[in-house]
Amino acid sequence: MIFAKPLLDRCISCGYCLPACPTYAMTGEEASSPRGRISLMRALETGQLPEDDGTLAEQASFCLGCRACEPVCPAGVEYGNLLEQWRDHQWRGRRGPLRARLLMAAVARPWLLRVPGLVRRHARTAARASGPSLMLGCAERALFPRVSRAARKLAPELAAPPRQGCCGALHAHNGDSAAGARMAKELGEVLPGTIVTTSGGCATHLAAHLGRPRVRELSEFVVETDVLPAVPLLVDGRPARVALQDSCHLRNGLGVWRQPRELIRAVAEYVELPSAATCCGAAGTYSILRPRDSAKILAVKIAEIEAAGVDFVVAVNPGCLRQLRSGLRKRGSSVRAVHLAELLEIASK
Ligand code: SF4
Ligand code: SF4
Repeated sequence: MIFAKPLLDRCISCGYCLPACPTYAMTGEEASSPRGRISLMRALETGQLPEDDGTLAEQASFCLGCRACEPVCPAGVEYGNLLEQWRDHQWRGRRGPLRARLLMAAVARPWLLRVPGLVRRHARTAARASGPSLMLGCAERALFPRVSRAARKLAPELAAPPRQGCCGALHAHNGDSAAGARMAKELGEVLPGTIVTTSGGCATHLAAHLGRPRVRELSEFVVETDVLPAVPLLVDGRPARVALQDSCHLRNGLGVWRQPRELIRAVAEYVELPSAATCCGAAGTYSILRPRDSAKILAVKIAEIEAAGVDFVVAVNPGCLRQLRSGLRKRGSSVRAVHLAELLEIASK
Protein backbone atom coordinates (compact mmCIF):
# COMPACT_ATOMS: atom_id res chain seq x y z
CA MET A 1 0.00 0.00 0.00
CA ILE A 2 1.41 3.37 -1.06
CA PHE A 3 -1.27 5.71 0.26
CA ALA A 4 -3.35 5.73 3.43
CA LYS A 5 -6.71 4.57 2.07
CA PRO A 6 -8.91 6.98 4.07
CA LEU A 7 -6.89 9.91 2.72
CA LEU A 8 -7.13 8.76 -0.88
CA ASP A 9 -10.82 7.92 -0.61
CA ARG A 10 -11.79 11.34 0.69
CA CYS A 11 -11.68 13.15 -2.67
CA ILE A 12 -15.17 13.38 -4.23
CA SER A 13 -13.85 14.74 -7.54
CA CYS A 14 -15.89 17.93 -7.26
CA GLY A 15 -13.18 20.11 -8.82
CA TYR A 16 -13.55 23.04 -6.39
CA CYS A 17 -9.78 22.95 -5.99
CA LEU A 18 -8.97 23.55 -9.65
CA PRO A 19 -9.14 27.38 -9.66
CA ALA A 20 -6.80 27.51 -6.64
CA CYS A 21 -4.04 25.44 -8.23
CA PRO A 22 -1.12 27.36 -9.82
CA THR A 23 0.01 24.46 -12.03
CA TYR A 24 -3.52 23.98 -13.37
CA ALA A 25 -3.59 27.72 -14.11
CA MET A 26 -0.32 27.35 -16.06
CA THR A 27 -1.41 24.44 -18.24
CA GLY A 28 -5.20 24.12 -18.09
CA GLU A 29 -4.64 20.35 -18.04
CA GLU A 30 -6.58 18.09 -15.69
CA ALA A 31 -3.46 16.03 -14.92
CA SER A 32 -1.79 19.17 -13.51
CA SER A 33 -4.68 19.85 -11.13
CA PRO A 34 -5.17 18.49 -7.58
CA ARG A 35 -8.12 16.35 -8.74
CA GLY A 36 -6.11 15.03 -11.68
CA ARG A 37 -3.16 14.20 -9.47
CA ILE A 38 -5.38 12.37 -7.01
CA SER A 39 -6.72 10.32 -9.94
CA LEU A 40 -3.11 9.51 -10.85
CA MET A 41 -2.41 8.46 -7.26
CA ARG A 42 -5.43 6.15 -7.36
CA ALA A 43 -4.23 4.65 -10.64
CA LEU A 44 -0.82 4.05 -9.10
CA GLU A 45 -2.35 2.51 -5.98
CA THR A 46 -4.54 0.10 -7.95
CA GLY A 47 -1.85 -0.78 -10.50
CA GLN A 48 -3.78 0.77 -13.40
CA LEU A 49 -0.64 2.77 -14.16
CA PRO A 50 2.85 1.25 -13.89
CA GLU A 51 5.31 2.81 -11.44
CA ASP A 52 7.49 4.10 -14.26
CA ASP A 53 4.64 5.87 -16.05
CA GLY A 54 5.88 9.19 -17.43
CA THR A 55 2.82 11.23 -16.38
CA LEU A 56 3.15 9.99 -12.81
CA ALA A 57 6.80 11.03 -12.69
CA GLU A 58 6.11 14.42 -14.28
CA GLN A 59 3.15 15.33 -12.09
CA ALA A 60 4.78 14.26 -8.82
CA SER A 61 7.53 16.70 -9.69
CA PHE A 62 5.49 19.51 -11.34
CA CYS A 63 3.25 19.92 -8.26
CA LEU A 64 4.52 22.82 -6.14
CA GLY A 65 3.34 21.22 -2.92
CA CYS A 66 1.87 24.63 -2.03
CA ARG A 67 -1.32 23.13 -0.55
CA ALA A 68 -3.51 25.92 -1.99
CA CYS A 69 -5.92 23.10 -2.85
CA GLU A 70 -6.56 22.28 0.84
CA PRO A 71 -8.43 25.27 2.31
CA VAL A 72 -10.88 25.31 -0.65
CA CYS A 73 -11.67 21.59 -0.52
CA PRO A 74 -15.15 20.83 0.87
CA ALA A 75 -14.20 17.21 1.62
CA GLY A 76 -11.15 18.06 3.74
CA VAL A 77 -8.67 16.27 1.49
CA GLU A 78 -5.21 16.36 3.08
CA TYR A 79 -3.39 16.87 -0.18
CA GLY A 80 -0.05 17.70 1.50
CA ASN A 81 -0.02 14.33 3.24
CA LEU A 82 -0.95 12.55 0.02
CA LEU A 83 1.88 14.29 -1.84
CA GLU A 84 4.37 13.23 0.85
CA GLN A 85 3.22 9.61 0.50
CA TRP A 86 3.38 9.84 -3.29
CA ARG A 87 6.93 11.20 -3.29
CA ASP A 88 7.99 8.68 -0.63
CA HIS A 89 7.16 6.06 -3.23
CA GLN A 90 8.02 7.88 -6.45
CA TRP A 91 11.32 9.33 -5.19
CA ARG A 92 12.41 6.55 -2.84
CA GLY A 93 16.12 5.83 -2.51
CA ARG A 94 18.10 6.77 -5.57
CA ARG A 95 14.97 7.47 -7.62
CA GLY A 96 14.69 10.96 -6.14
CA PRO A 97 16.15 14.01 -7.92
CA LEU A 98 19.92 14.14 -7.37
CA ARG A 99 19.95 17.78 -6.32
CA ALA A 100 17.29 17.13 -3.67
CA ARG A 101 19.24 14.13 -2.38
CA LEU A 102 22.43 16.18 -2.11
CA LEU A 103 20.63 18.92 -0.20
CA MET A 104 19.04 16.40 2.16
CA ALA A 105 22.40 14.77 2.81
CA ALA A 106 23.88 18.19 3.62
CA VAL A 107 21.20 19.34 6.07
CA ALA A 108 21.21 15.97 7.84
CA ARG A 109 24.74 16.79 9.07
CA PRO A 110 24.31 19.31 11.91
CA TRP A 111 27.96 20.43 11.87
CA LEU A 112 27.55 21.48 8.24
CA LEU A 113 24.71 23.75 9.32
CA ARG A 114 26.55 25.13 12.32
CA VAL A 115 29.84 26.17 10.74
CA PRO A 116 28.61 28.63 8.06
CA GLY A 117 25.98 30.00 10.46
CA LEU A 118 28.53 30.66 13.20
CA VAL A 119 30.89 32.29 10.69
CA ARG A 120 28.05 34.53 9.49
CA ARG A 121 27.00 35.31 13.07
CA HIS A 122 23.42 34.16 13.43
CA ALA A 123 21.79 34.77 16.82
CA ARG A 124 23.37 32.62 19.52
CA THR A 125 22.69 32.05 23.23
CA ALA A 126 23.19 29.23 25.69
CA ALA A 127 20.48 26.56 25.78
CA ARG A 128 17.81 26.89 28.47
CA ALA A 129 15.95 24.10 30.23
CA SER A 130 12.61 25.85 29.77
CA GLY A 131 11.06 28.84 28.02
CA PRO A 132 10.67 29.52 24.31
CA SER A 133 13.52 28.88 21.88
CA LEU A 134 14.26 30.28 18.45
CA MET A 135 14.73 27.68 15.74
CA LEU A 136 17.72 28.80 13.67
CA GLY A 137 16.81 26.89 10.51
CA CYS A 138 19.25 25.39 8.02
CA ALA A 139 18.97 27.75 5.04
CA GLU A 140 18.56 30.79 7.26
CA ARG A 141 21.69 30.15 9.28
CA ALA A 142 23.89 30.24 6.22
CA LEU A 143 21.95 32.59 3.91
CA PHE A 144 20.09 35.03 6.17
CA PRO A 145 21.79 35.18 9.60
CA ARG A 146 20.42 38.69 10.11
CA VAL A 147 16.92 37.26 10.39
CA SER A 148 17.61 35.37 13.63
CA ARG A 149 19.45 38.40 15.06
CA ALA A 150 16.44 40.59 14.24
CA ALA A 151 14.05 38.04 15.77
CA ARG A 152 16.00 38.07 19.03
CA LYS A 153 16.02 41.85 19.12
CA LEU A 154 12.24 41.74 18.88
CA ALA A 155 11.93 38.98 21.46
CA PRO A 156 15.07 38.82 23.65
CA GLU A 157 13.43 36.15 25.83
CA LEU A 158 14.02 33.62 23.02
CA ALA A 159 16.97 31.30 23.61
CA ALA A 160 18.94 30.51 20.44
CA PRO A 161 21.23 27.57 21.16
CA PRO A 162 23.46 26.84 18.15
CA ARG A 163 23.47 23.05 18.64
CA GLN A 164 20.27 22.36 16.72
CA GLY A 165 19.73 20.38 13.54
CA CYS A 166 17.34 20.70 10.62
CA CYS A 167 13.60 20.26 11.33
CA GLY A 168 13.24 17.66 8.54
CA ALA A 169 10.75 19.55 6.32
CA LEU A 170 13.12 19.23 3.38
CA HIS A 171 13.15 15.45 3.77
CA ALA A 172 9.39 15.20 4.23
CA HIS A 173 8.74 17.11 1.00
CA ASN A 174 11.34 15.28 -1.06
CA GLY A 175 10.59 11.60 -0.67
CA ASP A 176 11.77 10.72 2.85
CA SER A 177 8.97 11.55 5.26
CA ALA A 178 10.23 9.00 7.82
CA ALA A 179 13.50 10.94 8.16
CA GLY A 180 11.49 14.17 8.20
CA ALA A 181 9.44 12.93 11.18
CA ARG A 182 12.53 11.68 13.03
CA MET A 183 14.40 14.98 12.57
CA ALA A 184 11.40 16.98 13.82
CA LYS A 185 11.27 14.83 16.97
CA GLU A 186 15.03 15.22 17.51
CA LEU A 187 14.78 18.98 17.20
CA GLY A 188 11.89 18.92 19.66
CA GLU A 189 14.19 17.23 22.19
CA VAL A 190 17.01 19.75 21.67
CA LEU A 191 14.61 22.69 22.00
CA PRO A 192 12.29 21.93 24.94
CA GLY A 193 9.18 24.07 25.35
CA THR A 194 7.76 26.35 22.68
CA ILE A 195 9.69 26.49 19.42
CA VAL A 196 9.51 29.82 17.59
CA THR A 197 10.53 29.80 13.94
CA THR A 198 11.01 32.46 11.29
CA SER A 199 10.16 29.93 8.57
CA GLY A 200 6.52 29.28 7.73
CA GLY A 201 7.34 25.96 6.06
CA CYS A 202 9.28 24.70 9.09
CA ALA A 203 6.50 25.83 11.47
CA THR A 204 3.96 23.74 9.59
CA HIS A 205 6.17 20.66 9.47
CA LEU A 206 7.09 20.90 13.16
CA ALA A 207 3.46 21.44 14.19
CA ALA A 208 2.48 18.25 12.36
CA HIS A 209 5.02 16.20 14.32
CA LEU A 210 5.38 17.94 17.70
CA GLY A 211 1.79 19.17 18.05
CA ARG A 212 0.45 22.63 17.26
CA PRO A 213 0.71 24.02 20.84
CA ARG A 214 4.49 23.64 20.85
CA VAL A 215 5.13 25.62 17.67
CA ARG A 216 4.84 29.31 16.89
CA GLU A 217 5.79 31.07 13.68
CA LEU A 218 7.39 34.41 14.59
CA SER A 219 4.46 36.65 13.58
CA GLU A 220 2.11 34.58 15.75
CA PHE A 221 4.51 34.80 18.66
CA VAL A 222 4.94 38.56 18.34
CA VAL A 223 1.18 39.17 18.13
CA GLU A 224 0.44 36.85 21.05
CA THR A 225 3.16 38.26 23.30
CA ASP A 226 2.57 41.86 22.25
CA VAL A 227 6.29 42.68 22.10
CA LEU A 228 6.13 44.94 19.05
CA PRO A 229 7.44 48.48 19.46
CA ALA A 230 5.02 50.19 17.03
CA VAL A 231 7.26 52.85 15.49
CA PRO A 232 6.22 54.05 12.01
CA LEU A 233 8.66 53.20 9.25
CA LEU A 234 9.19 56.20 6.99
CA VAL A 235 10.61 56.40 3.46
CA ASP A 236 11.32 59.92 2.16
CA GLY A 237 9.27 61.30 5.04
CA ARG A 238 6.10 59.30 4.24
CA PRO A 239 4.91 55.95 5.63
CA ALA A 240 6.65 53.07 3.86
CA ARG A 241 4.49 51.07 1.44
CA VAL A 242 4.91 47.38 2.21
CA ALA A 243 3.53 44.24 0.56
CA LEU A 244 3.58 40.65 1.82
CA GLN A 245 4.23 37.31 0.16
CA ASP A 246 2.44 34.64 2.21
CA SER A 247 4.23 31.42 3.06
CA CYS A 248 2.08 28.77 1.36
CA HIS A 249 2.42 26.17 4.09
CA LEU A 250 1.92 28.72 6.86
CA ARG A 251 -1.26 30.01 5.25
CA ASN A 252 -2.70 26.81 3.79
CA GLY A 253 -1.40 24.38 6.41
CA LEU A 254 -1.63 26.37 9.66
CA GLY A 255 -4.12 29.07 8.67
CA VAL A 256 -1.72 31.87 9.68
CA TRP A 257 -2.04 34.90 7.41
CA ARG A 258 -3.63 37.70 9.48
CA GLN A 259 -0.73 38.10 11.89
CA PRO A 260 2.02 39.18 9.45
CA ARG A 261 -0.41 41.67 7.87
CA GLU A 262 -1.32 43.02 11.30
CA LEU A 263 2.34 43.57 12.16
CA ILE A 264 3.12 45.29 8.86
CA ARG A 265 0.09 47.57 9.35
CA ALA A 266 1.42 48.47 12.80
CA VAL A 267 4.54 50.07 11.26
CA ALA A 268 3.73 50.90 7.61
CA GLU A 269 1.12 51.28 4.89
CA TYR A 270 0.15 47.74 3.95
CA VAL A 271 -0.42 46.94 0.27
CA GLU A 272 -2.10 43.61 -0.58
CA LEU A 273 -0.66 42.06 -3.75
CA PRO A 274 -3.29 40.39 -5.98
CA SER A 275 -1.42 37.09 -5.68
CA ALA A 276 -0.06 37.46 -2.13
CA ALA A 277 -1.60 34.11 -1.18
CA THR A 278 -0.29 32.30 -4.26
CA CYS A 279 3.05 30.51 -4.43
CA CYS A 280 6.07 32.58 -5.56
CA GLY A 281 7.66 29.53 -7.20
CA ALA A 282 10.25 28.91 -4.47
CA ALA A 283 8.28 25.97 -3.02
CA GLY A 284 11.09 24.33 -1.07
CA THR A 285 13.37 22.71 -3.62
CA TYR A 286 11.13 23.54 -6.60
CA SER A 287 13.21 26.52 -7.77
CA ILE A 288 16.24 24.22 -7.85
CA LEU A 289 14.55 21.16 -9.37
CA ARG A 290 12.28 22.98 -11.86
CA PRO A 291 13.94 26.34 -12.50
CA ARG A 292 11.99 27.13 -15.68
CA ASP A 293 8.55 26.59 -14.14
CA SER A 294 9.65 28.40 -10.99
CA ALA A 295 10.86 31.38 -13.08
CA LYS A 296 7.52 31.59 -14.93
CA ILE A 297 5.63 31.85 -11.63
CA LEU A 298 8.13 34.32 -10.22
CA ALA A 299 7.92 36.62 -13.27
CA VAL A 300 4.20 37.23 -12.62
CA LYS A 301 4.91 37.92 -8.97
CA ILE A 302 7.73 40.38 -9.65
CA ALA A 303 5.61 42.26 -12.19
CA GLU A 304 2.87 42.61 -9.55
CA ILE A 305 5.33 43.86 -6.93
CA GLU A 306 6.69 46.47 -9.32
CA ALA A 307 3.20 47.59 -10.34
CA ALA A 308 2.16 47.98 -6.69
CA GLY A 309 4.70 50.78 -6.14
CA VAL A 310 5.91 49.42 -2.82
CA ASP A 311 9.17 50.09 -1.01
CA PHE A 312 9.42 46.66 0.59
CA VAL A 313 8.04 43.19 0.00
CA VAL A 314 8.04 40.99 3.08
CA ALA A 315 8.53 37.23 3.27
CA VAL A 316 7.94 34.93 6.24
CA ASN A 317 9.90 32.00 4.87
CA PRO A 318 13.57 31.84 3.81
CA GLY A 319 12.85 30.13 0.47
CA CYS A 320 10.41 32.89 -0.50
CA LEU A 321 12.90 35.53 0.61
CA ARG A 322 15.64 34.04 -1.55
CA GLN A 323 13.26 33.73 -4.50
CA LEU A 324 11.96 37.31 -4.27
CA ARG A 325 15.44 38.80 -3.82
CA SER A 326 16.71 36.92 -6.82
CA GLY A 327 13.75 38.00 -9.01
CA LEU A 328 13.96 41.65 -7.96
CA ARG A 329 17.72 41.75 -8.46
CA LYS A 330 17.43 40.31 -11.97
CA ARG A 331 14.76 42.88 -12.80
CA GLY A 332 16.97 45.71 -11.46
CA SER A 333 14.13 46.70 -9.13
CA SER A 334 14.52 49.21 -6.30
CA VAL A 335 12.01 47.26 -4.14
CA ARG A 336 13.68 45.59 -1.16
CA ALA A 337 12.73 42.04 -0.19
CA VAL A 338 13.11 41.53 3.55
CA HIS A 339 12.02 39.05 6.16
CA LEU A 340 9.27 40.30 8.49
CA ALA A 341 11.74 40.23 11.41
CA GLU A 342 14.09 42.50 9.46
CA LEU A 343 11.29 44.93 8.57
CA LEU A 344 10.24 45.20 12.21
CA GLU A 345 13.86 45.68 13.26
CA ILE A 346 14.33 48.47 10.70
CA ALA A 347 11.12 50.10 11.98
CA SER A 348 12.30 49.95 15.59
CA LYS A 349 15.59 51.82 14.88
S1 SF4 B 1 -9.37 17.53 -3.71
FE1 SF4 B 1 -11.21 18.30 -2.69
S2 SF4 B 1 -11.84 20.06 -3.93
FE2 SF4 B 1 -10.43 18.85 -5.18
S3 SF4 B 1 -11.71 17.47 -6.36
FE3 SF4 B 1 -11.12 16.35 -4.51
S4 SF4 B 1 -12.75 16.74 -3.03
FE4 SF4 B 1 -13.01 18.26 -4.67
S1 SF4 C 1 -0.18 21.50 -3.88
FE1 SF4 C 1 -0.39 23.41 -5.10
S2 SF4 C 1 0.42 22.87 -7.14
FE2 SF4 C 1 0.06 20.92 -6.05
S3 SF4 C 1 -2.02 20.29 -6.62
FE3 SF4 C 1 -2.26 21.49 -4.72
S4 SF4 C 1 -2.60 23.62 -5.40
FE4 SF4 C 1 -1.81 22.46 -7.19
